[in-house]
Parts: sequence; C-alpha cells; structure tokens
Amino acid sequence: MLDPKVNNFEYIDKPEIVVHETDVLILGGGMAGCGAAYEADRWASPQGIKVTLVDKAATDRSGAVAMGLSAINTYIGKNPVEDYVRYVRQDLMGIIREDLVYDLGRWVDDSVHLFEDWGLPVWKTSDDGKNLDGHQAAKASMPSLRDGGKPVNSGRWQIMINGESYKVVISEAAKLALENNRKATDVEQNHFERVFVIKLLNDKNDPTKIAGAVGFSVRDYKLYIFKCKAAMLATGGCVNFFRGRATAEGQGRAWFPVWNAGSNYAMGAEAGAELVLMENRFVPARFKDGYGPVGAWFLLFKAKATNAFGEDYCKTNYDEAKALYGKYVDNIGTCMRNHMMIMDMKAGKGPIFMHTDEALQKLGETMTKKEMKHLEAEAWEDFLDMSISQAGVWAANNMAPEKVPSELMPAEPYMLGSHAGCAGLWVSGPGDFGPEEYFWGYNRMTTVKGLFSAGDGVGASGHKFSSGSHAEGRVAGKSAVAYCMDNSEFGEFAETEEDLAAEVFMPMETFAKFKSYTTDPNINPNYIRPAMMQQRLQKVMDEYMGGVSTYYMTSKAMLETGLKYMGFIKEDAEHMAAENLHELLRVWENHHRIIAAEAHAQHILFREESRYPGYYYRGDFLGIDDENWKCFTNSTYDKSNKTWKVFKRDYHQIIPD
Ligand SMILES: Cc1cc2nc3c(=O)[nH]c(=O)nc-3n(C[C@H](O)[C@H](O)[C@H](O)COP(=O)(O)OP(=O)(O)OC[C@H]3O[C@@H](n4cnc5c(N)ncnc54)[C@H](O)[C@@H]3O)c2cc1C
Repeated sequence: MLDPKVNNFEYIDKPEIVVHETDVLILGGGMAGCGAAYEADRWASPQGIKVTLVDKAATDRSGAVAMGLSAINTYIGKNPVEDYVRYVRQDLMGIIREDLVYDLGRWVDDSVHLFEDWGLPVWKTSDDGKNLDGHQAAKASMPSLRDGGKPVNSGRWQIMINGESYKVVISEAAKLALENNRKATDVEQNHFERVFVIKLLNDKNDPTKIAGAVGFSVRDYKLYIFKCKAAMLATGGCVNFFRGRATAEGQGRAWFPVWNAGSNYAMGAEAGAELVLMENRFVPARFKDGYGPVGAWFLLFKAKATNAFGEDYCKTNYDEAKALYGKYVDNIGTCMRNHMMIMDMKAGKGPIFMHTDEALQKLGETMTKKEMKHLEAEAWEDFLDMSISQAGVWAANNMAPEKVPSELMPAEPYMLGSHAGCAGLWVSGPGDFGPEEYFWGYNRMTTVKGLFSAGDGVGASGHKFSSGSHAEGRVAGKSAVAYCMDNSEFGEFAETEEDLAAEVFMPMETFAKFKSYTTDPNINPNYIRPAMMQQRLQKVMDEYMGGVSTYYMTSKAMLETGLKYMGFIKEDAEHMAAENLHELLRVWENHHRIIAAEAHAQHILFREESRYPGYYYRGDFLGIDDENWKCFTNSTYDKSNKTWKVFKRDYHQIIPD
C-alpha cells in the first residue's frame, strides 16, 4: 500500500483563493438549476436575499438539454394530474413517491408556458387538424398554449417543439433573473461558469446542516469557496461509470451527457443526505452507435421495432415474460420493453430493427408531397437537434434510413432521476399532499438541513423530463429562499481555506512530484492517471454489476466480488494524479462516479428481486417479489469510514389504481 499523499504545495503553486458569500447557492445550471434561479429571484430579490449559480460548463449549452430537444416530454394539458401519477408509477414498476410526482404534475405546465413566453417555438395543431411546427404556428399567429393553443402531442404527455435552441432560451431567463438578483443585492458576481464543485461543506457546529461548497475553475488557477445558508444540488445524473458500448475512436460517446458524473449523488451522500432507489438505472434502447432518439419515431411517426425476422418481440415474448413478471408485463413500461428486446437478442434473433423506412412510406399514403417533405425534414431534424452523431453513423455506414431499417441497441446503464429512471436523493414532499413521514419542513429539502435538490438529483419520482426538472427546480428554489428567511445564520466550516486548497489540488502536486520517476509519465508506481482509473471502474461495473457484457445480469456473488474490487479502486483513487486543470476535473469526476457507482452496487445487492427487468437482473432472484420488496430502498454513506447503510422505507400508495 502506498503512503497517504500530502500536499504542501512544494511542487506546484498555490492557487488563488476566491471566497464568495451568498444565501442560496445553486449548484448546476441545467434545467433544474435554471428553474431554481428563475424562481428564487422572484422571492429573494425583494427581501435582499442573495442567489448564486455555479456550473462546471457554460450555462447556455450545459446539461442534458445542451444539444437541443425536439419534444417536451411532460406536459399535462387537459389530462388529470392523477393520471400522470398513474403513468409514472406504472412505468417505474409500482414504487414512486406519489406526493412528489403529483406536486410536479400540478406545476409543470406553468414552466412550459413560460418557455413559450421566452421564445421557444411550440408546434400547434390547426383547426383543420394539421400539424404546424413552431415557426409555422407563429407565422400563422396561432395562440400560445397559455391562451388555448393546441399543442401537437406525440404521445399523451409529450408535445413537439422546435428545440434546437431550447437550452439557450431557458438559460437566458435564468441569467436575467440572476442579474436582477445581483443588482438587487449589490454583489459583484453571482453566476460562476466553468467552476467544478467537488464537495459540500457541512456546518462544524451542526454537521447535519449545510454551510457551503468548494470547487475550482477548470480554466483559471483558482479555488472557489462558497459560503451559503441553503444549497441546491442540481448537478444531474451519472454517465460513464459502466463500460460503454463505444470503443476506440468512438470512445466517450454515450447517450447521457458526458459531463454529469454522479456529482449530485456523491456530493449529497458525502454531506450525509439519504439516497433512494439507487439500484434503479436507465438503459435506453436507442439507434445503435449514434444513440439517436427513438421517441418521436415510436410516438409521432408510428414506426415499428422488430427482431431480424420481422417479429414484434413484445408480442412473441409476452407469455414468457408474463410468467415471471405477472401484472407488470401489461401496460408495458420502458424497462419491460427492453426486457423483451434483450430476450430476442440473447436468443440470437437480432439485430433489432426500427422500421424507419416503412414508417415514412406509410405516412406518405395520407399526406401531400409537400407535407411529406416537411415531415421528413422534421424526422431528420430530430436527430440533428439531439444527436448529430447519429447522422454521422448513417453516413459512415452508407445507409439511408428512409429506405432501409435502422438497428436499435440497449445502451450501457446510466443513473438519473428525471427520465425513465428514479435514482436520487430522498427529499421532503410538499406537505399538503401525502403522508406525514414524507414531509420534513421544506419542499424538496434533503435529509441535510438547508440542502435541496431537483431534476435528475431527486429520486423516486422519474418522468419529469426537461419541463418537470425546470418546474421542480422552481419548487426547490422557492423553498430554499423560505429556508433562508427562517434560518438567517451562516454556518462555520471545519476546514481552513488552506486545508481545502491542499485537498482539491493534491492530484496536481502528486503528478508534479512523481512524474519524473519513470520515463513514461503514464506508468508510475506512485500514482494512477484518471483515464486509467475510469477504465478500471468501468470494467468492474460492467463485469460484476450487470453491464452490457453480461446482458445486465448480476447476482449476490458477482456483486460481492465486484464490491471487493471496488474497495481497491477506492484505495487507489486516493493516488490519482493530474497534469493540468483538465485532468484535475477528470480526477474529481472519477471521485464522484466511484461513490455513485458504489451506491448503485450496494442497492442492487440489498434488493433481493429483479424489480427492473431490462435494466438489470439479479440472477439469484429473477422475479418481482411485491410481498417483500414493494418498498423504497434507502441508504446513507458514512464518509469517516467510507461505508454504506442500506435499509427499507415504506411505500404509500396515494392515488388509487
Ligand atoms: C439524451 C437525452 C435526451 C432527452 N430527451 C428529452 C426530450 O426529448 N424531452 C424532454 O422533455 N426531456 C428529455 N430529456 C430529459 C432532460 O434532458 C432532463 O430531464 C433534464 O435535463 C434534467 O435536468 P437537470 O437540471 O437535473 O440536469 P441537467 O440538465 O443535465 O443539468 C446538470 C447541470 O449540472 C452541471 N454540473 C454537473 N456536475 C457539476 C459539478 N460537479 N459542478 C458544477 N456543475 C455541475 C452540468 O454542467 C449541467 O449544467 C433527455 C435527456 C437526455 C440525457
């Protein structure tokens, strides 16, 4: 075992230390963070309460919506909110926090109406039933959604948009709100971009309370220490902790945005917050290699997916799946659909095809040539908006998807709380809806006092998507302001500024100190570089915790073996080295990924059933066991001895079937 590393800044310079004091600290400027900034400003500025937002990237194009989207996946419209809860519950295999989902359902449309006010073009249905894209609808002076305009629904809850600049529109409103707050509170700066936050800081006099956060600039040689009364974790989900399907020159390509490295779960856990359903993951079945979106193809263009023999695998595999998973096979949800696909792939009936060719030709039967051209343009724009690499894959493979079917493939696993998954932090509900045990004072506050979360960060309440994450960010942002009004004292840090600087920059000191020990700085007995560490983590996760190489299969014995290796990974992670600021970012991302990954494995080990077939399987408990496991699985992390405690919490059904 190597000696513990020390950083006395003997080999590198000390960074400039910037200390910033604020009341509400929003970490992450994605959909949830932008929603929080917008809403917090409305309540904070008149009270002189300061709001600050920090993002590791540039807020205009950061997070999962960075490239743009072509549909808003959560819009309630004329549907009863209760039905939205039923849909989320059914897709997430019966266990959700119905108070959180109901609460979201009643606010989400307000965010969508704001998006349209801010300039997001929303598709509309004309009086004669034709679909107009957002620009056509604006040209035809069609009323906004708020004023009764009819959206174009691609599914019951999804509406179409011209969304290539979606994130820019949302970010602009957030930045204006921050600027308003900056002026109202007379501070120099309250929006920090390209600052990676590595950990939260608890109050030394009350460690169950939040006091701040620490991070560093990925561009300038600076350490940032933030002091706050309330903080909000809105740093998204977790990608790249499993070995991906992409290899060699395509390595790094993933469905989930590559900058969300599990920071939300790791920072929350290290600060003492309770996690929920961390065994859950999302395995998107997407166009092979390019990860192109399938939603519009299934829902709007009515394309069919089959095995190589033209069979609908959801029909042919129904009886076999029903025998294992009973009622969960009916009203087939996202993971169950994957399960049927995986059954065929394992039986050698692949490749699986999406019949893009037939879908467009069929639509052509009822459309004029001009309408068809327009629809086709929209179909391709769907890819250019969200996943331009898909167009690259098609071109590289010399295929025209309007003429031949395209392959689908279930991806490597991701953890998230806002798409078709529900891993995340355990937070308080709204208080006016749901049992008492789901409410502890402030809506969306975690079990750490003053620490809030939203979007992918909050568990047990998936299917929020972009609009819901924004709406949940607004709810959390407003609650955080209320918390600051009730709790006006700042906490104190246990760590000095020097301690924090030494800790954050240690990997750079390590590299500078030992780099000349060998002729190749990549191979060194004193340290490991972050790229290698990431590969080690991905290999263990893939081979033992149910990655693509075992068709998502794992078991108690496999998990325990994997966790043994995770122990070594954690030990070696203390010796990661960084040559520059970019590598320093990679080091701390790995640190977050490792903790998030360990939580994932511990939860899968704890839940002795296969609740989410098609996402993962416990080979030793292949079925669903409602009698023992229709409950939440929660956990806490003790950072002093690096151990997990996993336990059950009651699930309460609030909305009847
Ligand atoms: C490929 C894909 C397609 C999707 N398609 C749709 C769709 O068609 N329709 C729809 O409505 N929704 C869709 N969604 C869902 C939607 O994008 C998410 O629900 C939403 O973006 C989640 O919001 P968030 O704020 O939690 O996370 P994000 O929007 O991802 O934001 C996270 C933010 O945190 C920052 N960050 C991360 N770590 C740190 C750190 N340590 N320090 C500082 N900052 C940090 C990131 O830079 C980012 O700005 C899609 C998601 C994905 C991944």
